[in-house]
Amino acid sequence: MEPVKPHAVCIPLPAQGHINPMLKLAKLLHSKGFHITFVHTEFNYHRLLDSLVGSPDFRFETIADGLPSTNPRGIQDLPDLCLTIPVEGLCSFRELIRRLNASSDVPPITCIISDGVMSFTLEVAEEFGIPEMVLFTPSACGMLGYLHFEDLKERGYFPLKDESELNNGYLDTEIEWIPAMKGVRLRDFPTFIRTTNPHDVMFNYNMQSVNNATKADAVLLNTFDDLERQVLDAIKTKFTNLFTIGPLSLLHRQLCPTNLDSIHSNLWKQDAQCLAWLDKWEPGSVVYVNFGSLITVTPQQLREFAWGLADSKYPFLWVIRADLVPGGGEDILSEELMAAISGRGLLVGWCPQERVLSHPCVGGFLTHCGWNSTIESVCEGVPLVCWPFFAEQQMNCFYCCREWGIGMEIDSDVKRDKVESLVRELMEGVKGNGLRLKAMDWKKKAEAATSPHGSSYINFHNIVMQLKHK
Ligand code: UDP
Repeated sequence: MEPVKPHAVCIPLPAQGHINPMLKLAKLLHSKGFHITFVHTEFNYHRLLDSLVGSPDFRFETIADGLPSTNPRGIQDLPDLCLTIPVEGLCSFRELIRRLNASSDVPPITCIISDGVMSFTLEVAEEFGIPEMVLFTPSACGMLGYLHFEDLKERGYFPLKDESELNNGYLDTEIEWIPAMKGVRLRDFPTFIRTTNPHDVMFNYNMQSVNNATKADAVLLNTFDDLERQVLDAIKTKFTNLFTIGPLSLLHRQLCPTNLDSIHSNLWKQDAQCLAWLDKWEPGSVVYVNFGSLITVTPQQLREFAWGLADSKYPFLWVIRADLVPGGGEDILSEELMAAISGRGLLVGWCPQERVLSHPCVGGFLTHCGWNSTIESVCEGVPLVCWPFFAEQQMNCFYCCREWGIGMEIDSDVKRDKVESLVRELMEGVKGNGLRLKAMDWKKKAEAATSPHGSSYINFHNIVMQLKHK
């Protein structure tokens, strides 16, 4: 008789940048013999239906997110989601665990792997006596930023006294009392501190999530030791059972067999044609532009980026999600602008980002510095122009530009001439070349961390052992 498989229930926050790393971790555990239950929200499950062909030991389940079915679930709804999912999601999750536990169709649940910002699941884990590990999908530096939210509040930096502090230079105040974050300013912290509201949902939700995680059996991070060593040492004073298992993209590429490739998690329809388009350019000559899955831009910002890219004269691949510009899309680009980019610029709605970044023709990435995008770029040695927008993207940008030497920042009030000059600098300048060399260096270190005997490789095997022997 075959031995009973260990059974991991994996539950991400229902957003692309959280689902992707959780799915990679789930596949990695599956490759180590785990039965997997992967939990989507009902809303996302219906968006993903055609890509959820699992297998008898890799199954999908759903929970409610508590938002009304008419809700479009964009960035504006994150605060709503953070209010509803810990209530409705919690009940729904408890029912799911009860049902799975009573089922003879699946092995008994061995562990819950929850997103760090879905920490209400810890309550259920405790009720059922199931061990739980949490995966935080931001960088370690972003996480250290959240870990200092309480301090920032106690020291009077949060909430802001009034709105004028957003623009009067106050955010440039240096925060000197965090040794692992030398030179960091208030503006580099996760943006949820930028409010006059002491009850801000996102500030409190994130502060509670990192505090709750101390109750988990282990905390997992999609980063590697060499990249964030000092920050990780600081985090370890709070979480003693911390494991770096990133970049998950590389670990996944190395350890996962291809039989689960059909399971993916794109919430938008992917345009794979762009890979053939990339083939026609010189190595290192194309700028890749993508602002991730959540942020929105104004029509004016879209135009500034478009003119800047057009004037740089470099070929570019730009992902303009259908909902990137609320109420508009690439059709708000004028005929004159479209003529200026014609032949050199390809606009698509969603792309296979990791394959794009690994394409030899891609020489630079204009990014919002979401953590997945940042670390996926590190994996491929591609340097960055950073336009951080919200959450911990600002912290990632600070580290890319000041610590890791792989990026240059564009001001939030984006102007076309700055886009043009930074893109040129990135692609052909002395500074750009320095960033590229540094990015290649980090790529090698990321590969070393995920190779046998590397820190992330060993950590992953250690958590597998811990989970199997609980
Ligand atoms: N992504 C993708 N195709 C796209 C845009 C994004 O596959 O056209 C993926 C990307 O590879 C990353 C995730 O979506 O894994 C975005 O996560 P990130 O943390 O960078 O940003 P967020 O969407 O959370 O702002």
